[in-house]
Amino acid sequence: MVRLVLVLGDQLTLDVAALTAADKARDVVVMAEVMGEGESVPHHPQKIALILAAMRKFAVGLREQGWRVVYSKLDDPENGQTISAELLRRAAEFGAVEVIATKPGEWRVLRDLQELPVPVRVLEDDRFLWSEPEFRAWAEGRKQLRMEWFYRDMRRKTGLMMEGDQPAGGQWNFDHDNRKPAKGDLLRARPRDFAPDAVVVEVLALVEARFSHFGRLRPFRWATDRDGALEALREFVTERLPRFGEEQDAMLEGEVFLSHAVISPYLNIGLLGPMEVCLAVEDAWKAGKVPIQAAEGFIRQVIGWREYVRGIWELKGPEYLEGNALGHSRALPAVYWGAETGMACMRAAVGQTRDLAYAHHIQRLMVTGNFALLAGVDPARVHEWYLSVYVDAFEWVEAPNTIGMSQFADGGLLGSKPYVSSGAYIDRMSDHCGGCRYRVKEKVGERACPFNLLYWHFLVRHRERFRANPRMGQMYRVWDGMDEGHREAVLVGAEAVLGRLDAGKVV
Ligand code: SF4
Repeated sequence: MVRLVLVLGDQLTLDVAALTAADKARDVVVMAEVMGEGESVPHHPQKIALILAAMRKFAVGLREQGWRVVYSKLDDPENGQTISAELLRRAAEFGAVEVIATKPGEWRVLRDLQELPVPVRVLEDDRFLWSEPEFRAWAEGRKQLRMEWFYRDMRRKTGLMMEGDQPAGGQWNFDHDNRKPAKGDLLRARPRDFAPDAVVVEVLALVEARFSHFGRLRPFRWATDRDGALEALREFVTERLPRFGEEQDAMLEGEVFLSHAVISPYLNIGLLGPMEVCLAVEDAWKAGKVPIQAAEGFIRQVIGWREYVRGIWELKGPEYLEGNALGHSRALPAVYWGAETGMACMRAAVGQTRDLAYAHHIQRLMVTGNFALLAGVDPARVHEWYLSVYVDAFEWVEAPNTIGMSQFADGGLLGSKPYVSSGAYIDRMSDHCGGCRYRVKEKVGERACPFNLLYWHFLVRHRERFRANPRMGQMYRVWDGMDEGHREAVLVGAEAVLGRLDAGKVV
């Protein structure tokens, strides 16, 4: 009896669990491009194009390996336009008795599979370096799920950058050598652009015709198959990894990639695996080609942070998406969808998001995320925005980053304090402030940086929650020590900024 083997657009790995459990001789692989997924949130057109092109190429590779694949293109007349409808159509076509699926990375998709009127076997996605029970066991009984402890366990488990049972170089974390501001450098290597081939050209035309979401479709620069992804990895390791650590938190106008890897889209759709990218980085360090702080900083992002947020997503379930510990309810300001702004840092972060479907972690955390948190935007709307606009955003990785780390909407499960800052942090880590309509050194008045005004407004309105926080008490003492007239002017200025946001005026 035939079984259907579902392969989703972010499961493009030859040994993904559903394929491993299936039988080439009797089973049929189902892959489907559906509007229901493309429009579940307004995904960036480049993200949709990347996934569709990569799916088409992956299906060709499966057929070459002897799999029977039924593939529904987005414009096939019979396409039911949801994953469920396509599975039911194929089940009827083949008289299938069961669907085998790898656990999707979005709770909505899992629920839809579980509600199908045919038996569905959902297998754990074993492309992560721990199993779900292992993460639950790790989390059991811990008051705070600190990434740093998880990361150390992952180093021991994988053996990456270990010398016996001790970390290479005598330290687990070399961040004190990282996180420096960056300077413009004409010789800095930029990630290569992958020229669209015939498959990509066809997909781009389709996406252009069907979707009008925020974001530019062209130029489209992404690799769309495993060979391209491996080439992107190789190029990162040889050309940018040596400076990755020191530049990872910096922001420069017009230097959107700096020394970042820009391989997260390939990792997250399955074209690359977490261990192979870490081993490539470890090898470069062992060969003496990159400093220890660059290699350790990168590996921590992958086996530490990436694996950890997957665990949080698994552990906390769909309810995690509803978190709103600070009771924020403001609508997402129009600047997030590209409206005019005088804030140079926001203009740069949103502008490159529109053009490339990409911004690095500090732009996401300390510019757009920081501003949304300070302004009190509803975290569900912030979550939807990040899930929509970034080429590497899938719920399992995006939601803990946004709801937990960025918006403190989980009440402090991921972080012991909210990631908020005044304009001083952005000024230190970027060159944006010099070209801004606002003045980062001004604390009050019409030209005062909105981050400066909203920072204090945030602290004042959440005083009850945070005043006893040992990492924030000092800021409350600074506020209390200010002249009353100054404090009043700050709050009036912040209210004026919020009023402009609510009225849809330029900020
Ligand atoms: Fe951003 Fe403020 Fe600097 Fe302008 S002055 S770029 S708003 S931090």
